[in-house]
Amino acid sequence: MKMLIVQDTYAWFSQRAWVEIDLGALSNNVKQLVGFLSPGTQLMAVVKADAYGHGAVAVATTVLAAGATWLGVATVTEGIQLREAGIKAPILILGATHTPEQIHAITSWQLEPTLCSPGQALIFSDLLNSIDYNYKLPVHIKLDTGMSRLGADWQQAGEFAQLVQQLPRLHIASVYSHFATADSPDTTIMEQQHGRFQQAIAQIRARGIKIPSLHLANSAATLGDKELHYDMVRAGLAIYGLYPAAHQRNHLQLRPALQVKARITHIKTISKGTGVSYGHKFIAPREMRIGVVGIGYADGVPRSLSNQMDVLVQGQRVKQIGMITMDQLMIDISPLVEVEEGEIVTLLGEQGEEKITADDWANQLNTISWEIICGFKHRLPRVSIGVDGKFDQKEKK
Ligand SMILES: *Cc1c(COP(=O)(O)O)cnc(C)c1O
Repeated sequence: MKMLIVQDTYAWFSQRAWVEIDLGALSNNVKQLVGFLSPGTQLMAVVKADAYGHGAVAVATTVLAAGATWLGVATVTEGIQLREAGIKAPILILGATHTPEQIHAITSWQLEPTLCSPGQALIFSDLLNSIDYNYKLPVHIKLDTGMSRLGADWQQAGEFAQLVQQLPRLHIASVYSHFATADSPDTTIMEQQHGRFQQAIAQIRARGIKIPSLHLANSAATLGDKELHYDMVRAGLAIYGLYPAAHQRNHLQLRPALQVKARITHIKTISKGTGVSYGHKFIAPREMRIGVVGIGYADGVPRSLSNQMDVLVQGQRVKQIGMITMDQLMIDISPLVEVEEGEIVTLLGEQGEEKITADDWANQLNTISWEIICGFKHRLPRVSIGVDGKFDQKEKK
């Protein structure tokens, strides 16, 4: 996604709604994580899904400057977007890739694929043999130790690694796996997965194969247990300043990087008994002053929060009223004295002493904060605030 090109302050001041990204918070979070990692452990910043909705290029640039050394993406297209922006760091594609087009793109953009099966390894090998490619492509062997998602069965790790090792165009750059329950206070399943990972590594080494790098931990496992850090951790959520689990909130000083803001575009007074928005699901219990806010479900504000969410205006919490519509929603501004059209409303973020977090929304909606932050649509421009706290005037993508 393109970051808003901020030619002058007017460009973003004129927006009805936007996502504000605090690059200083991202930088802080990366430094906190790097400081916490076991000595010699590298940090891969997971920037898939447009950096969890934060804007991949601005995030990647910031986290690399702050100490991350690898980037993780889900798709080839996401990797190309980073390379087109001039980012040179190694990029691992966490998702599956198979087609000739994908493999061509991987080689020409110097991306590094995940390999999950012997069949996939052979497809890569055949294609690389058929083109003029005289290098060894670094590949990352993914093992399924209990997530039942991508990856070769951990019990087949030895045979699989040996096959890849014997293919002349492929070079094993790392072996990795992924946890299913690292955010749970009950570590039983995580420990079982870790045990399987260790056995798989032993099988591979027993065949005389050297593994340059091992990695296993997502954010939750990184915060939870230093034993799981290995040569690298793959952190997503924590980079963005959120904690994977409530019991981890006292670990490190992470700061959420994303805020969602919109403007009051119209103010009116309605009399007692007046219905508000589609279906009149809210009826004014008294005379009220209401503000119409220029953001709606097409921007990613979940409609199921209608009549149930608060927003922040002038440092105070006020209620959202009536059904949230596609592009607009209404709020009760009766408690506020001097609000004018153009006033900024914070839907997620902080104003004064008050804050509303992605975890608050996730709890209300019975989901996880990952889904909340990924949910803001591209119609909302991403406006970045530089590491120096100033609105970033140079951000182009
Ligand atoms: C998304 C992802 C991560 C990052 O997970 P977080 O919980 O956001 O830290 C790490 N590894 C893999 C394989 C992933 O798909």
